Amino acid sequence: MEESGVDPSGLVPVLAVSGGMNVKIYVVCDLEGTAGVADQIHQCSFEHESYDDRHRPGEFGPFYLQARRLATLELNALVEGALAGGATEIWAWDGHCRFPAGLDVELLHPACRLVMNAGDGGPVGLDGSCAALFLLGLHAKQGTPAAPQAHGIFPGKTWNGEDVGEIGMTIATAAVHGVRVTFISGDRAAVREAQAFVPQIETVVTKEPLFTHVASVTEVVPVLSLAPARSRELIRAGATRALQRLGEIPAPPRPPFDPSAA
Ligand SMILES: [Zn+2]
Repeated sequence: MEESGVDPSGLVPVLAVSGGMNVKIYVVCDLEGTAGVADQIHQCSFEHESYDDRHRPGEFGPFYLQARRLATLELNALVEGALAGGATEIWAWDGHCRFPAGLDVELLHPACRLVMNAGDGGPVGLDGSCAALFLLGLHAKQGTPAAPQAHGIFPGKTWNGEDVGEIGMTIATAAVHGVRVTFISGDRAAVREAQAFVPQIETVVTKEPLFTHVASVTEVVPVLSLAPARSRELIRAGATRALQRLGEIPAPPRPPFDPSAA
């Protein structure tokens, strides 16, 4: 692996996003925060008997394959934007449960490589050779008000006195490796959750809540979604900006726990 130029102090602009250097980025993907995706049972479920008794093992939610395509097209838009911003190597990891998970590999942008068979416990292969980590299609942690499909608290893990969800655990993993977290897309609550750790993060809000209570992951709640085509435009532009602004974004502070031990 080529040296990324990550500065251990977390304060110095990382690298010129040009000039022949390898600029490797890592994209953590999830399905729930994708524009046009709002229903856990019908769009995000496969082989989840525990969600309800309407699905048998191996049976997909009826719109799961469409949701997966929408998520993959958002990833491809991110890849296009990152390439325009100077990325030279792009890895993506699918955090939406186990295979077949939340991406359609047949549609994957040719400049992106996919981490496969790595489970859903965290971004396998992320290390200090990565110049930046991107969060795509994320949802908020369980218990968050006005957060559609929120789930995923890690029991006993707190950061700044708050329970940590998938966003916090991923940012903690990036922090362990000194990797800047430069971009998030997802619903409004997911974006706010990431901003609590990285205030300077580049953001795309794909969905606004039209409710205020704490909803369960499978609860069907009203949201206002961007058109997927519009979401992709914003993600493409945001990914470019995220790399152009890399020097403004400090590495996240290392939390008082080791996510690798989770
Ligand atoms: Zn998911």
